[in-house]
Amino acid sequence: MKNFSIPQEVADISKTLAEAGFEAYAVGGCVRDLLLGRKPADWDIATNAKPEEIQKLFPDSVYENAFGTVAVKTGLDDETLALVEVTTYRVESSYSDYRRPDAVVFAKTIEEDLSRRDFTINAIAFRPKGIVDLYGGQDDVKKKIIRAVGNANDRFNEDALRMLRAVRLTAQLDFKIEESTYDAIRTNVDLLKHISIERIRDEFEKLIMTPRAGWGLELLHETGLLKHIIPELLEGVGVGQNKHHIYTVWEHNKRALEYAVEKGYPLEIRLGALLHDVGKPRTKAGDGINSTFYAHEIVGGMMTKKIMERLKFPKKIADHVTHLVRFHLFYYNVGDVTEAGVRRFLKRVGSENVDDLLKIREADRIGSGVPKAFPYKLRHLLFMIDKVKKDAIDTRMLEIDGTEIMEELGLNPGPKVGWIMSVLLEEVLDDSKKNSKEKLFERARELDAMSDAELIKLQKKAKDRKEEFEQGVEEEIKKRYRVS
Ligand code: ATP
Ligand code: MG
Repeated sequence: MKNFSIPQEVADISKTLAEAGFEAYAVGGCVRDLLLGRKPADWDIATNAKPEEIQKLFPDSVYENAFGTVAVKTGLDDETLALVEVTTYRVESSYSDYRRPDAVVFAKTIEEDLSRRDFTINAIAFRPKGIVDLYGGQDDVKKKIIRAVGNANDRFNEDALRMLRAVRLTAQLDFKIEESTYDAIRTNVDLLKHISIERIRDEFEKLIMTPRAGWGLELLHETGLLKHIIPELLEGVGVGQNKHHIYTVWEHNKRALEYAVEKGYPLEIRLGALLHDVGKPRTKAGDGINSTFYAHEIVGGMMTKKIMERLKFPKKIADHVTHLVRFHLFYYNVGDVTEAGVRRFLKRVGSENVDDLLKIREADRIGSGVPKAFPYKLRHLLFMIDKVKKDAIDTRMLEIDGTEIMEELGLNPGPKVGWIMSVLLEEVLDDSKKNSKEKLFERARELDAMSDAELIKLQKKAKDRKEEFEQGVEEEIKKRYRVS
């Protein structure tokens, strides 16, 4: 038998339970990962002690009522070990709606508890006295196989999320799905629509964070699961591109993701890479080497927003990924690369996003299969960005602020101050030399002397310039490309 290295804290919890006369096993993913020589993501202990009894033994614990699990605090910082989940043996009762039931029925034996688990490799229990492995889990670990416990069809009808877990674990562990388990997924994919989007999102996110995310994504496609997660990506299957690409849109998106994974980039970059061309199929015009995808980044941005909201990603992540997709073609929007153009570009995409956008850009380039050298124009843009990086691109970066304007001109708080500030910024964006106290005060005085109507007109011109692309065009495009 393998020499398991159980962390002291976990061993101590088991010992406390055993000394109180209860059984205690390490079980599930942690045993699987130990057998594989991987670091477990979390530790689970199964016991015949009831939740109240567990709590009594571990005063420093949290009881999560809905799942019958007591989380014991170890006081460790390591996030995989800070809480150890101690769960009473249980079987699951009714499965009428294809979901893991909320009602928990306690069981008497570890054998019963193992029988409700999803895959053989996740149904191995360990304690110092010995291993309980009723379904050949150790064997499957050796063979690198994901196999359902018992009848796969029944397992997926009980809880449809297990199908997605199978794909996620396959990618995470570099395993294969055993044939009858795979067939049962193919047969039951549509049951995934009964599963809450949060559970789906969590597994999908784990999949995207594995080193074989691209391969996992292909498996989601092959099994049919993808249509219940991000069906929009399927629109790109078989859609050819133009002379700059050798891959279909689907293949290209996948390869862009693979590049981001290879680089070890975080979730948002991975999702941005995966979705960056999601708008292409809907915007494709013409065919063959000369086809075009005009405005696909705008359509893609809108689609990404919907996808991220549907999957209930936290707003901050959703916004960031949407922004990356929306602006991934940034270079073409710069027009001529003047300093003023670069300042306006930075204002539009946000200087803080430039690094991430360049990462998406790189993933796009490498994922195209015919990577051109890092284009000269892009290098020039970087040089220009560096050159203008200290220049003002928002009103907070102007050399005078609203209060100073009010004092200098004897103005009361009101919209006029805001109008003046935004006209000043607009002019500084065009010419950064205008950003000195003296020049700004002088210009502010001129603006103050104008009639309200004139000033509003100037201010509106600045605002329009900022929003012309964002609004008018987007309304039109929404209608045209079915993103309502
Ligand atoms: P990870 O490495 O991400 O922690 P895991 O397999 O340990 O993967 P957990 O969510 O931590 O996943 O679940 C712990 C254990 O609980 C699993 O190994 C499995 O035995 C059982 N389990 C989890 N989800 C299900 C499910 N949907 N159906 C049946 N058993 C499940
Ligand atoms: Mg786990």
